[in-house]
Formats: sequence, C-alpha cells, structure tokens
Amino acid sequence: MKKVPFFNYPELYNSNKEEFLKIFDEVSSRGAYILQNDIVEFEKSIANYCNVKHAIGVANATDALEMAFHISGIKKGDEVILPSHTMTASPSAVIANKGIPILVDCNQEGMINPDLIEEKITKKTKYIMPVQLNGRTCKMEKIISLAEKYHLTIIEDSAQGLGSTYRGKQAGTFGLAGVFSFYPAKILGTFGDGGMIITNDDTFAEKCFKFRDHGRSNLDCEMWGRNSRLHNLHAAFLDFQFKSFNETIQRRREVAKLYQKYLVDESNVKLPIFEDENHFDTFQNFEVLVNKRDQLKEFLASNNIGTIIQWGGKAIHQFERLGLNHFDLPKTDKYFENCLMLPMNLFISDDDVKYVSHKIIEFYKNV
Ligand SMILES: *Cc1c(COP(=O)(O)O)cnc(C)c1O
Repeated sequence: MKKVPFFNYPELYNSNKEEFLKIFDEVSSRGAYILQNDIVEFEKSIANYCNVKHAIGVANATDALEMAFHISGIKKGDEVILPSHTMTASPSAVIANKGIPILVDCNQEGMINPDLIEEKITKKTKYIMPVQLNGRTCKMEKIISLAEKYHLTIIEDSAQGLGSTYRGKQAGTFGLAGVFSFYPAKILGTFGDGGMIITNDDTFAEKCFKFRDHGRSNLDCEMWGRNSRLHNLHAAFLDFQFKSFNETIQRRREVAKLYQKYLVDESNVKLPIFEDENHFDTFQNFEVLVNKRDQLKEFLASNNIGTIIQWGGKAIHQFERLGLNHFDLPKTDKYFENCLMLPMNLFISDDDVKYVSHKIIEFYKNV
C-alpha cells in the first residue's frame, strides 16, 4: 500500500547523504565546532539573500524571538500585538520578557487581520509581531502604518517565512528584526535545531552577536548574555542546502499547483489563496480548510497519508492552561475547526500528490 508521510525525516539526510558526510568530515577535521567561518559564511548567505545588513545565527527561532524582544528593550508590562494562529514560541518570547501578549483574530488566510489591530492598541502597546505563516507574508502596509502612527516596533515571527515576499520585499525585513527557524521540517531545515535573527540596525545587531555568546566580544563580557549559538556544523549543512534554495521553493510551488489542479473542483476543500500580484508564497505548509476535518484526517491516516493540524490542533487562546483564553477570537475558533495541513515537502512525488488528492475526493464521495 502506498505511504505518504507528512514529513520524511530520514530523507532530509539520506537524499544528500554523501554531501553531508563530506561536510561533516571536512568541518570536523578542522575542529570547527563553535562560531567558526562556516557560520559567518552562512550568515552572509542569508543576509545577502534577504537584502539586509546583518544575520545572526542562534540556537533556534524561539531564542531568536526572545533575544529580539530583550535586546530591543521591552519592559515589564509592555503589550505586544500578535495573532493567535501561531506557535506558542511567539507569545512565549513575550512572556519570557515579562511582556503581555495581546491576541488578534485572523482573516480568511488564517493570518493576523490588520483591520482588527488598531482597536487593541492601548497606552501600553509597544510592539506588533506579525507571523509570516505557512510561507506567506502578511499584507504589511496597514501594519506598518499603525506601527508608525503609534510608535510601535515591529518584530516579525518569520520562522516559516524564509523566501516569502510581499511586494518584492522579503519576510523578516519589514521591521526592526525578523527571525528564521531551521527546524528539520522547515523550508530550510537542518538535523536538529537552528535559528537566525535578521536586521538592518547596526547597534541591535552588535548586541545580538554578543548576547548569543555570553555577552562577550573578544572574550570580554560587555553585557549579560546567554549561550544561543547556531552550531557551526549546522551552519555548514545549511549553507550547502541553501545553494539550491531557489529550486526548493520552485518544487514546493509545483506541489502546491498540483494540489490545486486536483482539488480545485472539490467544494469541501478550501485551498490556500494562490498568487496575487503582491505575494510570493513558498508553501512552508499547505494548509487547507476542509469539511468534516477530523473524519477526513482519520480516513487519510487509514490510507497511510500523514496530515497535521497545526500546533497540535489549537490556537494560542485555546490552550486553557496558558492563560490567554480570555481573548474572544471567533474567526480563529472557526478556522481551527476546519484547518488541516497536507503533506508538502521536497520528498513527495507528483504521484503522491495525486494519490493524496484522489483519496480526499474519494472520502467526500462516500460521506
Ligand atoms: C517553528 C516556529 C517557531 C519556532 O522555531 P524553533 O526554531 O523551533 O524555535 C516559531 N514560530 C513559528 C511560527 C514557527 O513555525
């Protein structure tokens, strides 16, 4: 029986095993484990690609967010506006800095609805954190103009956004800082954790470089910091993979087009909004809205097709014990009744997409 896992973790390594072994051997033979040339090169690659001045490799995107808020000078009680359809990492970066997450309802794309932001702004509001979800960048004009009007700092959770653009501008570059994640299943993933901060602000960048390495510069401690260094080996693996990043994006877009081709007439499936002139999407995820979601998920599983409901099935305000359930977000609630992510990665074939699509169509014929 055919099998289409949601993500094929062994393939991440196996598909380029020889190259990775060579890199491992070459870097390790040099003893280049911590903060060596490979991380500098990879940081340059990302900074050039995003057209920003600085990229700082860190241990993961959660750290990147926490650091970005800390270094930008967030104070206890500062309010940060963000969507509820995101990973706990986004509000936890605020909580870790004693800030207050203020959740906003989503639009039909599942992203923060810019029209609902202004009503949430108070005297305590200091930041907006757009989340560039599923490889798509938010419509940024309104977010930027609100930030200017109320003197708010934009820090982007673009952990899923590498390569995605809005009006030709890269995700992560719209505010003071953006972050990327190199978690294995991310569009640029390594064999473990990894993350990055990007910024055009020289002072902010300098502090990030120090902070990730115990607040040090040339072994002199100039500030309190922590250890959150991107591993030099991971940087080498990532820089190698990044050389074919354009092809990676192209393939994901092809897979998305195939899903669209097969599912466009299936009225029970609402596909992600495809291209318009402003967005360039990388399809970090292929999130659809479907009727009878839980039954469909089960049916697909019984046919060896892996699907995932993002964040384990709950938006931030739906995790009762996280204490943010006082936010009334009806659109997000509705979204989370229907959303489902289909397999979307470099390791699925055209035939796999056809199989998944046909099984979805078969399900709705029979219910
Ligand atoms: C993956 C992800 C993160 C966290 O990234 P890590 O590198 O695993 O810490 C944060 N925000 C979003 C939206 C993500 O998808």
